[in-house]
This record gives sequence, C-alpha cells and structure tokens, in this order.
Amino acid sequence: VTDQDHRHSHPHGGLPADAADNRARDLNIRDADLRPSELSRREFLRGLGLLGVAVGAASVGGSLVSPRVARAATPRSPERRPGTDTDAPGGLLWLSGDHHIHTQYSSDGRYRVRDHVGHARRNGLDWMVITDHGRIAHEKVGIDRTHADVLDARTANPGMLVYQGLEWNIPGAEHGTVFLAPGPNEADLLHGFEANFDGVVVYAGNATKNDPVQEAKAVEGVRWLASQVAARRSEAALFLANHPARRGLDSPHEIRAWNDAAPSVAVGMEGAPGHQAGGVAKADLGPEAARGYYDFSAGAQSHPAYPPESYRTWGGFDWMTAKVGGLWDSLLAEGRPWWITANSDSHAVYRDTLVPGAGTFSDVAPFVGAYADPVDTGVEQAGNGDFWPGLYSRTVVGARRRSYASVMAAIAAGRMWVSHGGLIDGLDVLAVSDRTDSVATLGGTVRARRGESLELVIRIRPARQPNGVGVVPKLRRVDLIGGPQTGAASDRDAMSAPGTAVLRSWEIDRQHGVIVLSYRIPRVQGSMYLRLRGTDGSVSAPGSIEPRLDPVPMDPWTDLWFYSNPIFIDVE
Ligand SMILES: [Zn+2]
Ligand SMILES: [Zn+2]
Repeated sequence: VTDQDHRHSHPHGGLPADAADNRARDLNIRDADLRPSELSRREFLRGLGLLGVAVGAASVGGSLVSPRVARAATPRSPERRPGTDTDAPGGLLWLSGDHHIHTQYSSDGRYRVRDHVGHARRNGLDWMVITDHGRIAHEKVGIDRTHADVLDARTANPGMLVYQGLEWNIPGAEHGTVFLAPGPNEADLLHGFEANFDGVVVYAGNATKNDPVQEAKAVEGVRWLASQVAARRSEAALFLANHPARRGLDSPHEIRAWNDAAPSVAVGMEGAPGHQAGGVAKADLGPEAARGYYDFSAGAQSHPAYPPESYRTWGGFDWMTAKVGGLWDSLLAEGRPWWITANSDSHAVYRDTLVPGAGTFSDVAPFVGAYADPVDTGVEQAGNGDFWPGLYSRTVVGARRRSYASVMAAIAAGRMWVSHGGLIDGLDVLAVSDRTDSVATLGGTVRARRGESLELVIRIRPARQPNGVGVVPKLRRVDLIGGPQTGAASDRDAMSAPGTAVLRSWEIDRQHGVIVLSYRIPRVQGSMYLRLRGTDGSVSAPGSIEPRLDPVPMDPWTDLWFYSNPIFIDVE
C-alpha cells in the first residue's frame, strides 16, 4: 500500500499536511515561488528550527524535523527507557488501530474475524488485534481456528495489519491484551503462553485472587514473553492492561511490577475502555448499564485503597488516566514508560442485527471453543453496548513504516494518541530544547541542561469528516498537563502525583487548517513531563474543566475527548 493509497483510504489516521503546508515545507520550491500564506508558514517553521526534511513520508505523518534536530534526537543512553524506539522522529506514518476485539471464539462474542476486519477497514483503521478470552477451550480450539482466519484475513486485506493475540486473564488481576508479531511461531507461542500463564487456565475460578503467588505468576508470564523475543522466536511481543480500574483488581504495585519485569513488553493500559455504548438508554436500545460497563464496586479481590469513584468512567476514560495527578501521573512522574490506548472491546455492536450462531463452549474434552457463524435476524438487537473497531475509539500510532514490526515498535515507544468519536483527525507534538538540539515526540525524551528554555509545538488537524453519527465534531479546548519527574516511588502502591496539574488551556475557535499551539518553558529547572488532552467542551465536572463522572444513561457521542501520551524532559 502506497502513501497515496493510505491518504485516500484513511481520512482519520494522522496529520496529513494540507497542500499549502506541504509546499511550505518542500525545499525544492524556492521562497520566491511560494504564495504569501505558504511563505509565512515556511517562516514560522524556520523560526522554530523545524524546517527541512522528510516531506515525503511527512506529507502523511506530518513530523517536521530538520537534519540538525533529527541528529540531536538520538538519545545518548537509549537503554535508559527500554521501550523507546531510538530513531529520529521524522517521517512518521500515523496509523489508527484497536488492540482489543472479540470474535465467535469468545463465549460472549459472535462475529467472524472477517466481519471485524471489514468494519475496521470501512472505519479507517490500519491495524487491529484479535483478542478472544483466555480459557482452556480457547487454548485447545480457539487459537488454531483464529490463526486460520487471521491468515485468510491477511491475504484478503493486504492493507490491514491483522494481529493475533488473546485477552489474557492476568493472574491476580484484570484482563490484558497480549499479542505477538506475525511469524512462524506465532500460534505456538500463544499456546505456550496461555497454557502456562492464563489465570483462568491455571487457577480456574480463582483467577483474580489477590495473592502474591498469582501476582508472581503474572510477572513470570510477562518475562516469558520477553524471553521469547530475546530468543528470536518472535520479533516482538506486547502486553497492555485492559479496563484497568473497572473492578479495582490492577493494584499500583502490580502495574509497576509488570513494567519493571519487561519494560519492552508490558508497556501500558487502556486509557479508555471499550463498551462505550454501555450507558446508552434502554429506550434507545442500549444496555443502560454504564459507559464502558464500569458499573462495579470494590470487591474482595480489589485493591483496598481505590476510592469508589475509581470504578466509574470519566468522560469515557478510565479513572487511572482521567484523574489529573492520579495513578497514571504517578507512574509518569517516576519517568516510567507506561502508555495509554483506546479500543472497542467489541463483542456485540450497538443496534447490530447479528446474533451468535449455534454452539456452546466447553473446557473439558471434547473441547468446544467457537460459535457457528453469526445469524442475521434483520432486527436491531437491544442491549448491545459496543462499537465496531474504529467507529468510536481509536489508538493512533506514529510508525516508521506500514509494517507489523513498526506498529508494535511505535506502541512500545509510546508514540501514540487516542480519541473518541473522531474528535480530531491528527495530532503531532514536538518538544525542542533551545541549546542542546534535543527533540522528542510523543513517548520520547528531550534532554536539556538546567536553565535552558524549551518549546512545545502542538499541531492539531481538526476533524473534517462526519463521525459515526454523521456529525463533524468540534474541538473546543486543549489542555496541557504536566508535572515534575520525582524519581522512583518509594511506595510501590503510590497513586498520586501532587505536582501534576493543567499548565495551560487553549480555547479553540477554528475548525479548519492546522491548529498550531505552542508553549514555552523558560529556564527549565528540573526534569518533568508533559501530556495533552482535548475536548469538544460539551460537558465537564461541575465548576471545573475536568471530565465529568459519566451518568447513566448517557449518549457517548455527546462527550468526546482525546488524550496524548507524554513527552519526558530530562534535565541534566
Ligand atoms: Zn476484558
Ligand atoms: Zn475484552
């Protein structure tokens, strides 16, 4: 698939520069041949030292990095953040995806792999991960059936990167996505992982038991994945925690332990869960449960320090991510490479007409791990709370090329932002230091000397296409969130970062072209990090700009946010 195809097939993926923007950056065009608006854009970029290379790929990806800055971007000690891809952040393709999708190989699913692939394509996704629930029947039956379907889907859809994974029952904790790069050992490794480390397979009905033995088993599983990559049995393996705050099972010390055990494999969590139509009113054929199906409360296996509000979504996002100065920020304040994603968790699509085909699931011989193909009733079904992949939630990654390995490298590096309801089409963020010529994009690290000044340049492409309910969303506000890096937490269950706050908000009144925002940090004194969120501004918590605790019922299309991953600034 060429870049040209990409642009046509994929209106939402990244930050395609407009024609004037391309011409401003194309140094094959002399200043004298530019129109005045193009020339002023070029002068602006030149003033920031951001003009010069990679217009080819950047016409899709939109990263603008001069050779001077690109050279400076190579970290001096790349081993320090093992998840970080160490190439220069130029020439990125921003590819949209979803790493959490269920099929007829989950007892609470129904769709064929090809159904999801078709919808994902129509919704502009570039990559997707099939993640049926771990259980004995899945290990015995589901993996191989899925593998055959995934191989077919890859052949039939060369423009779509279709990964095979599973939804891991993390021993002692919640669910998580585990997936591997395609390769000759792909299915074998999934078998090995699930048989030995899935909580339901290993501990049966006791999978979430909050005890040190199970927590150690989870860490062992993550290490095993890393060892398979080290032994070159797979090019890459990733684990991301799904719906982390839903039942309070993922305690802060478990998250830290996973990330410490294999920082290139255990790289993050869902910043927003799937099931975003879970709060839609019954009168509108929704389940009227809760957005994300976040309708749980503290149980026997929950981490006791989690407050009642952590069991709800906030503007559609998980409390760990949505709370400024909360758990995610406490991890980032450690300088920890721990990233967020947003996915569909699609099992049963809101107002869809398909129902599961015949079948049952059995974890004893003869094992049964699949439904027959779904049956079309021709009638919109009531009570479904999910969206098709790409219809509502997306995780957009900055990949160096359109390949399985590059997308996984981008996820591992945190070069990602996420959105709901097509709120924006593109986001490109660069932090640049004045004197040391260090630059970084999302997930990266800028190295600066104490007292040096830095510039954060944020480029946002507003939505141009109608979203899944036929509305072109309007971005109304962007918030820059930042805080100091305070070093490794002595309390492994730390879940607050008191120094982190909204540093700056921009009201957005323009919905065309490229919105360029910049933020200057004069004379930086200590290591810090910065991240972004934006909103359509329709609702917020009373008397505040913070997201609202999602009520029930609610229409998820009326409260849209995007979030970026952080950029770290390390001061020497
Ligand atoms: Zn799950
Ligand atoms: Zn799931």
